[in-house]
Amino acid sequence: MHTDFHMHSTHSIDGHHSIDEICRQAVNMGLDAIAVTDHVEWISVSPRQFPDYERYFADIEAARTRYGRDGLTVLSGAELGNPHQYPAAADLLNAYNFDVVIGSIHWLDGRNIHLSSVFEGRDPYGVYADYFAEMTRMVRLADFHILAHFDRIFMPGVDAFGPVAIARLEGPVRKMLDATVQHGKLLEVNTKLLDSRPGWNETMRTVLGWYREAGGTYVSINSDAHRAQHIGQRQAVGLELAREWGLEPAGIDQLPTAITPAVASF
Ligand SMILES: [Zn+2]
Ligand SMILES: [Zn+2]
Repeated sequence: MHTDFHMHSTHSIDGHHSIDEICRQAVNMGLDAIAVTDHVEWISVSPRQFPDYERYFADIEAARTRYGRDGLTVLSGAELGNPHQYPAAADLLNAYNFDVVIGSIHWLDGRNIHLSSVFEGRDPYGVYADYFAEMTRMVRLADFHILAHFDRIFMPGVDAFGPVAIARLEGPVRKMLDATVQHGKLLEVNTKLLDSRPGWNETMRTVLGWYREAGGTYVSINSDAHRAQHIGQRQAVGLELAREWGLEPAGIDQLPTAITPAVASF
């Protein structure tokens, strides 16, 4: 079963292709199932990032009709930025019935984790540790199926400070992984940055080994494509890293069951 459960359409501010174009590409690539997980952000410093859900679900329905004939399963979804910090996240999940919900840390103390300014005036390992602590809180407090791109802050980090000495982060990373397994969430192997920077795949390999030790069995191997041609990118690399530890790629059947209404934090 070939799946990709994390990608963006023009319903995201940074997506380049329509749901229809995405599905056509997925069929051409021989994928069995995809989820279109457009951005939802609540933080005030970000431009408004919230799909028009009437149009979004109409496009999903149309794609199901059109590409179902080709054997493609089209799942609805959403990528929530820091959902544990916004009560509106629970309202959104009560209002819409998403098939796949992704939880992401995009912000740390109001700073964008994709930018080097997240490290301004601080020791990078202190920032990394805070990032994984925030991720652990999100896993415990928010409802979602897949924990997205745990490696994302290493993008500005490696560019500014060189390869990550992941052993220095073992404590906070293992806490995050333990929480992920305990709360029945799937760890994502985000393929966007694999092979991209010195030491990147080694860092991923180490963390996946810790996830296995924490009791993890499945990973969700996803492209995070913002263009149709990036769907399924480097899936083979992600699969190889996962299988080194006996981790298997999650298909539809391994998605955690229905999102339960949030109780803990809201
Ligand atoms: Zn993201
Ligand atoms: Zn994304």
